[in-house]
Amino acid sequence: MQVEEEERVVVLGTGGTIAGSASSAADHVGYKAGQVPVQQLLTGIPALAHVSLVAEQVAQVDSKDMGPAVWLPLARRCQHWLAQPQVTGVVVTHGTDTLEETAYFLHRVLAPAKPLVLTCAMRPATALSADGPQNIADAIAVVRTAGARGVVAVCAGRVHAGVDVRKVHPYRLDAFSSGDAGVLGHVEDGRLRQLRDWPAQGEVALPVEALDTRHEWPHVEIVLSHSGASGRAVEALVRDGVQGLVVAGTGNGSVHAALESALVAAMKQGVQVLRTTRCAEGEVVGRDADPLPKTTLTPVQARIELQLRSLAR
Ligand code: ASP
Repeated sequence: MQVEEEERVVVLGTGGTIAGSASSAADHVGYKAGQVPVQQLLTGIPALAHVSLVAEQVAQVDSKDMGPAVWLPLARRCQHWLAQPQVTGVVVTHGTDTLEETAYFLHRVLAPAKPLVLTCAMRPATALSADGPQNIADAIAVVRTAGARGVVAVCAGRVHAGVDVRKVHPYRLDAFSSGDAGVLGHVEDGRLRQLRDWPAQGEVALPVEALDTRHEWPHVEIVLSHSGASGRAVEALVRDGVQGLVVAGTGNGSVHAALESALVAAMKQGVQVLRTTRCAEGEVVGRDADPLPKTTLTPVQARIELQLRSLAR
């Protein structure tokens, strides 16, 4: 007789405030992120008592320091676990600061058909009112929702598509927004109330295997257009050998004339340039005739996109 393998949810820990530790339960600011092991974060959450969980510590960092050194092993472990037939989906515990960048990166290199849910916390694990345990329980509820797929983020009871999520507040518990797109849904009493479809899978920009052998990622920087902007930072970056530049323009992607000339000159020297908006919501509309190619991505997403494009060449 064939025995059905038990359904499993895998939780991969990368650090962040959710794994943060402070010397006092009242301390919400002077804590150290990335201290508590992921296995420990899963203990004592009543909603998880009957869920078969596998926990793995991939990294233990403050996500302000996130980058390819963690992304590569993380993407590899996600890929490994998502390929196991008995695994329903993967939860990644992550710092809030760069969660949107990791979400975008994972979306572009994995485009998973199963759910890959990032979650986090705004208060350390040692806080009197730690928000991590509920966020983890909610993330696992989302993974176990029938039909769940793609990269999403769960925080403070709200579910965001990985391509839309952005951190919008430095302190409050509900620190994320999905911008104009709106949230994908709400987790209420362990159930997802879904408002929008799961993220479209899309094509991978570069498969994880292709990233394995790369040690140096392309040098891509973000510059901001603002009152009194100049081209000096761009000129210095070009002298330094920058390979790509994202310009976060004002309003509908407009760029100060001095900065624009420096960026056009950089393009003539082979630097890849993408223009987006520094506005918190919306995307650049029209302006295709502009000398600087536009993107609908946020500045941090556009930076990752340029790196992946350059690696894929
Ligand atoms: N600096 C922390 C991190 O991103 C903030 C947080 O997780 O809320 O790891």
